[in-house]
Amino acid sequence: MLLKDKVAVVTGAASGIGKEIAFEYSRQGAKIVIADLALDAATAAADDIRKQGGTAMAVAMDVTSEEQVDKGIADAVAAYGGIDILISNAGIQIISPIVDLTLDKWKKMLAIHLDGAFLTTRACMRDMIRTGKGGTIIYMGSVHSHEASPLKAPYVAAKHGLLGLAKTVAKEGAKNNIRANVICPGFVRTPLVDKQIPEQAKEFGISEDDVIKKIMLKDTVDGEFTTTQDVAQTAIFLAAFPSNALTGQSIVVSHGWYMQ
Ligand code: NAD
Repeated sequence: MLLKDKVAVVTGAASGIGKEIAFEYSRQGAKIVIADLALDAATAAADDIRKQGGTAMAVAMDVTSEEQVDKGIADAVAAYGGIDILISNAGIQIISPIVDLTLDKWKKMLAIHLDGAFLTTRACMRDMIRTGKGGTIIYMGSVHSHEASPLKAPYVAAKHGLLGLAKTVAKEGAKNNIRANVICPGFVRTPLVDKQIPEQAKEFGISEDDVIKKIMLKDTVDGEFTTTQDVAQTAIFLAAFPSNALTGQSIVVSHGWYMQ
């Protein structure tokens, strides 16, 4: 077990990539805090982990709310003693040309991806310094942390922003043994992607099949989707890595769509 007795907070873990990481971390011995807007789904996921013999709790958390983030992390610390790993993963997608994008939608995207990453980072870093044990912070970036696609301006801007945050956390956190890295997946079939396939088909005037083949997987080496399992295995590798040698980095997991 690579993460035995580590306490891991995973935001957006009621669904998709975050949920898979939560279950895989549990199989590696970690105690899991499922932090999500969707409390019913988060509670169900935590119940499922416990049924499988793991340790897990759900916390209701809108990552854009300073109060809810600080309370959720405080509740996790009260239950499990301290935080060792943060996976800042909660996210959404908005498909729109820039000229049609409202300021509200722009701000919503930046709030969830960047305010959420900042607020959860700050709360967890404070606790990692308090315990003196340090820890690992992993941001869910994207190929869109390095590349752009049309119709995704606020997402691309936010995912690029996470690289800057991770590098700064790596520099500030080193003296307290806190590492920070970014995982950058290609397209993964989760509700976030399933929703945008018809949206992109409509905007581009092409079939859903063409969205998959000619847009999403066009530049991969093998025409394959990345899986939640691929991302979870990367998250285990990063969290279990034993030293500060690997910090301030991004790892792209995308079937070669983007090569650094
Ligand atoms: P998903 O829709 O399956 O899950 C996202 C989760 O985030 C949901 O449980 C949702 O309730 C939660 N969430 C949304 N807003 C929140 C908020 N304000 N506070 C707390 N929780 C909130 O999506 P996914 O595909 O698993 O995406 C997870 C992360 O992975 C996102 O950051 C996304 O940008 C990133 N990502 C996804 C893909 C992909 O192809 N699916 C690729 C690269 C990166």
